[in-house]
Amino acid sequence: MASTGEKKLVRSKSGLRMVTVDDRVHSPFILSEPEWTPDSTCKVCQNPECQAKFDLFNRKHHCRRCGKCFCTKCTSGLMILPRMCFVDPVRHCEICINITKKENEFFDRHLKALLNGSVFNILDSNSNPEQGELFTCRLSQDHRKLEFVGEQSKRESIPVDKMESVQIVASETDQQGNRLGTGIAIRYLAGIPSTGETEIVKMTVDEGGLAKKTGMAWIAAMQKAFKMVYESKNP
Ligand SMILES: [Zn+2]
Ligand SMILES: [Zn+2]
Repeated sequence: MASTGEKKLVRSKSGLRMVTVDDRVHSPFILSEPEWTPDSTCKVCQNPECQAKFDLFNRKHHCRRCGKCFCTKCTSGLMILPRMCFVDPVRHCEICINITKKENEFFDRHLKALLNGSVFNILDSNSNPEQGELFTCRLSQDHRKLEFVGEQSKRESIPVDKMESVQIVASETDQQGNRLGTGIAIRYLAGIPSTGETEIVKMTVDEGGLAKKTGMAWIAAMQKAFKMVYESKNP
């Protein structure tokens, strides 16, 4: 078996983390631990609305997500933080806990949809619009690439870190008035990286097929995934 997906337990100042043995193959959703604000520079709680003075009774705590220094009251929330691979729930400040809460919804629901995959009609930037072909598309188990399985043909997978943009190209409105994507165009770096050459793959849900609903859920999940990866690269 390939060793690329192997994981190990490591201890950090914030707690135990389960990480890939080979750091180069970690999931694109993973964030590295922040630098902690040094204790010596921090006299008051870094929540601007609190600013309580630290002393013997009012102790300092670091938010595991942003690394800033807060009083007990302002870091009372514990939450699992899968993006930093902690095994147990960790201390969060009030701003970070809301971000993590939203992201954990992604890990609970949307990531599963991406891994399960769905059937799409697939068109390339240079193919004739009339000649799409059905492929099952899913995120690989290590989260690092989109894989395509066709009945007859093969397609190269697309590395998640090569994606440049994700755009909804077709949508419909549900009964509550929400617009739901039925087609998505993914632009990605192709060929030799230094040339910056990109290609676009256009994926639309199989309208008549049973996979329409899972396809739409997959598209919504893909948008969230791309946003998360993009924002962690461009904070
Ligand atoms: Zn924080
Ligand atoms: Zn405080």
